[in-house]
Amino acid sequence: MLDGIRDAVRKFLGGSSSYDVAVEEFIKDLQKALISSDVQVKLVFSLTNKIKERLKNETPPSSIGRREWFIKVVYDELSALFGGDKEPDLNPKSLPWVIMLVGVQGTGKTTTAGKLAFFYKKRGYKVALVGADVYRPAALEQLQQIGKQINVPVYGEPGNHGAVGIAMRGVERFLKDKYELIIVDTAGRHGYGEEAKLLDEMRDIFEKIKPNEVVLVIDAAIGQKAFDLAKKFHEASNVGSIIITKMDGTAKGGGALSAVSATGAPIKFIGVGEKIDELEVFNPRRFVARILGMGDVEAIIEKIKAVEDYEGIQKKMEEVMSGKSKLTLRDMYKQIMAMRKMGPLSKILQLIPGMNMMGDIPEDQVKVGERKMQRWISIMNSMTYEELDNPSIIDKQRMRRIAMGSGTEVEEVRELVEHFNMVQKTLRTLRRRRKDVEKLLGQMGGE
Ligand code: GDP
Ligand code: MG
Repeated sequence: MLDGIRDAVRKFLGGSSSYDVAVEEFIKDLQKALISSDVQVKLVFSLTNKIKERLKNETPPSSIGRREWFIKVVYDELSALFGGDKEPDLNPKSLPWVIMLVGVQGTGKTTTAGKLAFFYKKRGYKVALVGADVYRPAALEQLQQIGKQINVPVYGEPGNHGAVGIAMRGVERFLKDKYELIIVDTAGRHGYGEEAKLLDEMRDIFEKIKPNEVVLVIDAAIGQKAFDLAKKFHEASNVGSIIITKMDGTAKGGGALSAVSATGAPIKFIGVGEKIDELEVFNPRRFVARILGMGDVEAIIEKIKAVEDYEGIQKKMEEVMSGKSKLTLRDMYKQIMAMRKMGPLSKILQLIPGMNMMGDIPEDQVKVGERKMQRWISIMNSMTYEELDNPSIIDKQRMRRIAMGSGTEVEEVRELVEHFNMVQKTLRTLRRRRKDVEKLLGQMGGE
């Protein structure tokens, strides 16, 4: 799936050509890989333009190599296309919740209906299935079999009674019986020749049963047709989310991207096999990391995240210094965690330019040994948010509890709290001193 991109990342990170040339090459490779993975050409170019734009307008953090930073930009932009940081919203927003599955025949709608029913049943919902595919022979039996397997009731009417009527009667029945989640499986029979008829039927069912959510089910192997198809379904029934099936296969999966951009709907699940539990919650960042080459990308992202965390801390320190905000143990915790992610303390101190801000604090007071840091992290992990935000409330009794919870000694907890108090005091002194200097400078400038 989108294999070319992984190779391009490797080549880019390890390559010997100059940065600018390497970027050009990578962008070409990326475009080629995306297009050959069936992502719409227009989408590919808007993506690569956005990447180029960011390269022009942004500068990497000082301690991160340009190449690594570039890969992070690519990762961000690709992830954004798939929904970025937004976790898919899995729980029904209200109850009862009616889901209607749409999609072409053979994509895995019926299988997915069963998987969804199973997924939500396990989450404690009272789930029911409605079989409204009147075209495919034995469609109802297929759904009934699944229903029996997971012990979920299935509504259906053997013989062709019209899909719209069946869907309406099924939903009505289950609403009356106080089912909380009703999943309506539909047909996809007409295929391309009779597409208009299929879409008319979808629109009709959609308008009659007024589902809370329409789920477009698409096959990972759909290819270039994905965009147009998704768009048509979207126009007929207002697609609210997407499930990509057969991600376990050899398909490139690029069509998924096109479907997302055609509907504006997020991917919620991916199907990874034929069995009832082979349904995974979709995670955009993981999906993209997989595309880019897990190992390489994850390490870079971790590192950049740490630097960003650290910059956040520096900003906070500036605020503390200017008296705009107060230092808390939680800040110190974040600081230590960020440092740990970046490597040994001594190395970090050289890496971080703003670190000399701490230069005014006596050496031995700043220097906290690696081992001690580890102990302190345990201690802070055992503190409540309240304690982290307001360490002055940590009395003897709390210290005992924290020490017990973290497997440390009360003495160590006390030492941490004292260290924190000392840092705070030093910061106050520094702040005063800085003010004096500023005042002095101001007076000099005034003369
Ligand atoms: P429908 O026509 O859209 O209802 O499709 P079906 O649910 O009948 O599925 C068509 C075929 O795809 C069946 O053989 C399923 O077992 C298979 N299938 C569905 N989802 C997946 C999946 O995630 N992975 C794999 N490997 N096969 C799947
Ligand atoms: Mg079916």
